[in-house]
Amino acid sequence: MKVYVTRMIPQSGINKLKAKGYEVDINPSDKVLSRKELIKALKKKQYDAVLCLLTDKIDKEIFDAVPTAKIFANYAVGYDNINLNDAKEKNVMITNTPGVLTETVAEHTFALMLAISHRVAEADKFTKAGKYKGWAPMLLLGTDLSHKTLGIVGLGRIGSRVAYHGVKGFDMKVIYYDVKRNEDFEREFGAEFKENVGDLLKEADYVSIHVPLLDSTRHLINRQRLSIMKPSAYLINTSRGSVINEADLAEALKNKIIKGAALDVFEKEPELTKGLEKLDNVILTPHIASATEETRSKMSEMAADNIIPALENQTPPNLVKIS
Ligand code: NAD
Repeated sequence: MKVYVTRMIPQSGINKLKAKGYEVDINPSDKVLSRKELIKALKKKQYDAVLCLLTDKIDKEIFDAVPTAKIFANYAVGYDNINLNDAKEKNVMITNTPGVLTETVAEHTFALMLAISHRVAEADKFTKAGKYKGWAPMLLLGTDLSHKTLGIVGLGRIGSRVAYHGVKGFDMKVIYYDVKRNEDFEREFGAEFKENVGDLLKEADYVSIHVPLLDSTRHLINRQRLSIMKPSAYLINTSRGSVINEADLAEALKNKIIKGAALDVFEKEPELTKGLEKLDNVILTPHIASATEETRSKMSEMAADNIIPALENQTPPNLVKIS
């Protein structure tokens, strides 16, 4: 069996594939392959499986380059980089890595929430620039998290873990919006369901986005919706960039329509909407919410654990169901 890996990932999953006796070829350059390069690489051998990343746009043309592949195992929980209709048409299995990154992404979400509200990045820049001349009562005042209202958009695995930290760690009140109501969660955490995202945006002090990128969530947060948020509110996004209209957000931050934002993901990664980099009321991280050594290794193993059964004519555990 032959497996192609589109970029170097932690060794643990590669070892699992090799232990099975599979031939594993890995893109030797530590960079995203262009479409042309990826097609060329896939055409080199009759690969049985491809381990791909969220930076690879996978569609018909890519499936056609490797017609022998039974599975494309995505090294991510989100799979908006893959055209599922094309996969279905070509009879290719798609898998993802749900669950193993939930805690890490929730931690990063709180790192961002605390950093923006306590002005950590600004304060770091200030101190390193030698501007700190002594304690001052009005220096770099921030905003508390404790006892505030946390609005979760998408109460799935990651959203509910973020809500858990908010309730348990900071006594926050949780309100949430989701296409599915979770009454057990409401009872356990005293959370309140909002029928529509607008009601959540009006009330929340912190809004944290955890929906997948779908047609129904693209630009869910736009100029109009930003305008109904509290001027004191913060917006955190660790889901996918295109859930927010980034130009509208940059405008809202510049005009202080909301107090601040913290983003791990961007509409046209790795490009940023012009002007964002100049604002003090936004914190940006380069899509690293799942980037801990432990989690990236688990994701590597999970991708391998999806490939192995697929190549043994069994159903992989994290098969994406395509309707
Ligand atoms: P999940 O499927 O467990 O949760 C998603 C939730 O969104 C579900 O409860 C679902 O019902 C809800 N939802 C779907 N469509 C909706 C809509 N139109 N309106 C409201 N709610 C809707 O997924 P998860 O594991 O929690 O991951 C969530 C997303 O986070 C992923 O899809 C991925 O894009 C993103 N993510 C980003 C990083 C990162 O590195 N920044 C890492 C992991 C995941």
